Amino acid sequence: MTREVIRAAAEELGFALCGFARAGRAPHADALEAWLQDGRQASMEWMQRTAEDRINPERILPGARTVLVLATNYFHDDLPPATGTGRIGRYAWSNDYHEVIRPRLEELAALMAKAGGTQRCFVDSGPVLERDWAAECGISWPGKSTMGIHPELGTWFFLSVILTTLEFAPDAPLPDRCGRCTRCIDACPTQAITAPYQLDARRCISFLTIENKGAIPEEFREAMGNRIFGCDDCLDACPWNRFARASRDAAMQPRQDILTKPLREFFALDDAAFKAFFRGSPILRAKRRGFLRNVCVALGNTGTRDDLPALQAAAADAEPLVREHALWAIDRIAARENPRL
Ligand code: SF4
Ligand code: SF4
Repeated sequence: MTREVIRAAAEELGFALCGFARAGRAPHADALEAWLQDGRQASMEWMQRTAEDRINPERILPGARTVLVLATNYFHDDLPPATGTGRIGRYAWSNDYHEVIRPRLEELAALMAKAGGTQRCFVDSGPVLERDWAAECGISWPGKSTMGIHPELGTWFFLSVILTTLEFAPDAPLPDRCGRCTRCIDACPTQAITAPYQLDARRCISFLTIENKGAIPEEFREAMGNRIFGCDDCLDACPWNRFARASRDAAMQPRQDILTKPLREFFALDDAAFKAFFRGSPILRAKRRGFLRNVCVALGNTGTRDDLPALQAAAADAEPLVREHALWAIDRIAARENPRL
């Protein structure tokens, strides 16, 4: 089986890019170890637990020879602004990419199995350093924002990986083309990019609104603005994204029902209704309590007196996390509407 056969099959399956790296000690293993030692993984303890597996693909697939990295374009142009709605990271506009990409990977792996290979597939779900492997095989260079950049796709792509026992010639890495630009660092509302190529997850709105299960620290609430799931500011600022083209992938189309829903209407969803409304969406990851926590903060920053009845109901929610953030939002709106109180 040749690289060209794999590339053609990957394109047929909807992948925008496909690169080959030689399996071995992960390219930035030392940097990962230093990052973990600094505690910058925030509450993502699983990163510490799986560090050894991430560093050495042999531990996940004995006999691994090649890391095949695939990129899927998820870019869509900005949507027309709608009053009273929140901002959601572009990656979450469509249905959960894990469910879309996994069957495609498995189809490609099945093709490789016919050539005698043993494969393992990963969609941002296993102990694999996708971004580092993507850099190693020329899919992207790691930008100062820490996100990978491809000269045509920009930063708007999902990575997935197939580890295989088949051997292929590796691709060459891309040169770093960030140059003297610092736009991502300057654009970050919480100074989470503490230095070029250094991200402190504890300050990052994407982490705070998605992985973080607890309260949003008060020092970052105002900077969240009306973001309710994820943050794209460092990506929107990147000049390489001017070349991005909208994905034509039917499975990657924006969910208008979610994107146009006024913030205060989310409070009407009980747990069952929340799961039903967000079925298929990555927003389910935040769970109702985490998502409504974010909605409270967004309303605290942008809401008006018309949002107070919904927030007052949220202040009596069974979930303490929602109650506390709702009370914060009510105070903020009251202070805005009655600055002399
Ligand atoms: S996602 Fe937002 S908060 Fe996080 S580094 Fe980028 S701009 Fe900063
Ligand atoms: S905004 Fe500039 S510095 Fe940041 S990742 Fe893009 S090109 Fe690199």
